[in-house]
Amino acid sequence: MHQTETFSQPTRDVGRGMLPKIKTFYLECGIGSYHIAVYNDAARPRETLAMDMIDPFGRTISYLRVSVTDRCDFRCTYCMAEDMTFLPKKDLLSLEELDRLCTVFIEKGVKKLRLTGGEPLVRKNIMHLVHQLSRHLESGALEELTLTTNGSQLSRFAAELADCGVKRINVSLDTLNAEKFHQITRWGNLAKVMEGIDAAQKAGLKIKLNAVALRDFNDAEIPELMRWAHGRGMDLTLIETMPMGEIEADRTDQYLPLSLLRAALERQFTLADIPYKTGGPARYVHVAETGGRLGFITPMTHNFCESCNRVRLTCTGTLYMCLGQEDAADLRAPLRTSEGNELLSVAIDEAIGRKPKGHDFIIDRRTSRPSVSRHMSVTGG
Ligand code: SAM
Ligand code: SF4
Repeated sequence: MHQTETFSQPTRDVGRGMLPKIKTFYLECGIGSYHIAVYNDAARPRETLAMDMIDPFGRTISYLRVSVTDRCDFRCTYCMAEDMTFLPKKDLLSLEELDRLCTVFIEKGVKKLRLTGGEPLVRKNIMHLVHQLSRHLESGALEELTLTTNGSQLSRFAAELADCGVKRINVSLDTLNAEKFHQITRWGNLAKVMEGIDAAQKAGLKIKLNAVALRDFNDAEIPELMRWAHGRGMDLTLIETMPMGEIEADRTDQYLPLSLLRAALERQFTLADIPYKTGGPARYVHVAETGGRLGFITPMTHNFCESCNRVRLTCTGTLYMCLGQEDAADLRAPLRTSEGNELLSVAIDEAIGRKPKGHDFIIDRRTSRPSVSRHMSVTGG
């Protein structure tokens, strides 16, 4: 084997910063000849350190949900009161600030990013943010950019979302009956949502439907909703209603444990558990009769916290480490205090270090107050 010190290139861009070179070698041996360079990794700038975010329970945080607005063009009865007070517009982070925050999370290991709300597609110029974030898909730093929407604005935005590299979206739809749809969303128009679903499928977006299971409202309709979704190549996921924020309705009346609904479905359909995962908390079954997938999100009857990989950012820059707890970290101050991202990165690490083990949601007749005071629209689903 022959080895000599060779070429001199003082620094090298290794993807996350210019690192000074310590030494280089030219190496010849039986299987070939090689240039070997040794760079000083200790000089890697701290704010660009690609360190995984790992919480105190050993869970790696790789999924960020961003509520880009708390506003919505619907008023779903389980989600909001009809007469909601929204945040003053001046308190919102700008789209540039949201982009900077998301980018720091991506540098720190976030691989999947979901835009949500409120209704994300009613935020002014939201497509500007989607275009900006799509650069992280192109670079490979981000594996998936997606959104959860009520579908009301999809016919306008579906093609542009697909152009930005969005591949899959979640659309919330609790009923196929136009009157009931209006009743549950208070302000929604089913025909407009259907137009949106058509446009999204035409644009090549894969859709997963989300339906909140509501006692005596849509429980009897779930088989029809499932057949319809599967017939159009869409997965359907059922969600248990969670006690978040004051609403006019009584959650005890609305709440339907999915264990009961699954048992009822099993009288008509053959459901087989499958290991399919989308990075979220749903557990899936394959439905033999329809050939489609049905998901169950069961925060109440089967807490999924042990595998939680996500944190949630609001449109004011507050980071919630758990959907079901009040503790939060302010990222707006470190974002605005300095042009560099060092302070922000430290604040994120500190917040992840406080991520709780899980939520304590309770719905029963003795517990009339919601488990957390904020509505789902603050942190998004
Ligand atoms: N507006 C968009 C939509 O409806 O898809 C995104 C935000 S919405 C808060 C996200 C999801 O949360 C929706 O699927 C909605 O049905 C669900 N959701 C809202 N309030 C809920 C609650 N209290 N319990 C369970 N799911 C809820
Ligand atoms: Fe709006 Fe979505 Fe909440 Fe319905 S569930 S009121 S669409 S934020």
